[in-house]
Amino acid sequence: MNTDLTPAQLELRARARDLARGPIAANAAEVDRSEQYPWDNVELLRDAGFMGMTVPPTYGGPGYSFLDAALVIEEIASVCGVTGRIAVEANMGAISAILTYGTEQQKSLAAGFPLGGDKPAICITEPDAGSAATEMSTRADERGDSYVLNGKKHWITGGGVSRLHLIFARVFDKSGVEQGIGGFIAVRGEHDGLQVGTREPTLGLRGIPETEIVFNDLEIPKERVLMPPGGFARGFGQLMNAYNSQRVGAGTVALGLAAGAFRVAREFVLEREQFGRPIAEFQGLQWMIADMSTQLAAARSLIHGAARSRGPNDSAFPDPTAAAQAKLFASEAAVKITNDALQLFGARGYSRNAPVERMLRDARMFTIGGGTAQMLRTLIASKELDMKLPQTRDGYTRLASDTKRKKERAA
Ligand SMILES: Cc1cc2nc3c(=O)[nH]c(=O)nc-3n(C[C@H](O)[C@H](O)[C@H](O)COP(=O)(O)OP(=O)(O)OC[C@H]3O[C@@H](n4cnc5c(N)ncnc54)[C@H](O)[C@@H]3O)c2cc1C
Repeated sequence: MNTDLTPAQLELRARARDLARGPIAANAAEVDRSEQYPWDNVELLRDAGFMGMTVPPTYGGPGYSFLDAALVIEEIASVCGVTGRIAVEANMGAISAILTYGTEQQKSLAAGFPLGGDKPAICITEPDAGSAATEMSTRADERGDSYVLNGKKHWITGGGVSRLHLIFARVFDKSGVEQGIGGFIAVRGEHDGLQVGTREPTLGLRGIPETEIVFNDLEIPKERVLMPPGGFARGFGQLMNAYNSQRVGAGTVALGLAAGAFRVAREFVLEREQFGRPIAEFQGLQWMIADMSTQLAAARSLIHGAARSRGPNDSAFPDPTAAAQAKLFASEAAVKITNDALQLFGARGYSRNAPVERMLRDARMFTIGGGTAQMLRTLIASKELDMKLPQTRDGYTRLASDTKRKKERAA
């Protein structure tokens, strides 16, 4: 049931479905087994126009909406989570931030990367700054017409394969005074100071490297600083708004994995016979199918709503609460649905020859990466209760004083 999609969107989704269920599905098990980045799939995505599909025509792209991109991503992820993630980062996240806040020169530079087949990388997380992202210690020191970056990120998706990087760092002016957090655009291969460190051996999504990215006197010219309207002082919050598109994308990959696992499990219960009848005839399993289907429909509805939504201040991006709710629900539903799908397969589901085993491992990541389920709940509650999300060590103190001030104003 998709009554709210236009004929063009239905056609786009059908095109993505054909590509997904054809060559991308055929490669999916091998991508997981080999742990190799699927360059062949990237080429297929690029030839289909699914890399850089949200880039506006002014910068050489087709200018599709986030919802259009989500329709494509769900189909791709329903057969291969890794390729789904590539489609997310080629259309959302770093590229959205640059296309919104960048100078004309930055926008033209950045647009060419996903359109040409690159999956841009976003570098925020550090060993001592995960959920507390603002505690990052990578620093950018102003020197002449450049900033010089030093520090280390980890868990960077696409480390060693991505070329375009959007790096978040703590900014210091020439006299060493801290200005806030800024975004820096770097291209791997163009600068000596950007090195790819150790790769993590991951539970799932094994075809895409998660690595450290190390900056040793990485010199970024000032024209490559991504400066949102609030400057460095408000820059982090504004840059993170761009992250809401990536959050919708991550939720969409989770939705796709769940949809793919549901599809194969549904076929299996209709075919597999025990006690002289298809196991689909047992009511306990029918109720599992009903719950899985209901959760899928709810997740899809939240994702589509978030993809269509626009935040209050930065109308280019999805609403932060809608994006958080969609990613939270879709990621938790995906863990449950892929796990139930494995259960429906019995022992066959536990085999590495079954796609549901891979889908469960892949789905497990989405309650962690891009904002954990706990942090998303904190964000949603902070909006509902009109309280500030603590972003710094002293955040809880400030939160209490904000509330006190508000009460005083109201009295
Ligand atoms: C596969 C994968 C890909 C990733 N890709 C990228 C990437 O491309 N770029 C990037 O910058 N980062 C990336 N990340 C990092 C990801 O964003 C972080 O893992 C995430 O923000 C959580 O940080 P952490 O792992 O350090 O956990 P921690 O922040 O150490 O959290 C540990 C646990 O404590 C909980 N917790 C922490 N603080 C609170 C709190 N205040 N209230 C309640 N619970 C709390 C968390 O929810 C979690 O359960 C990726 C991670 C994964 C797994």
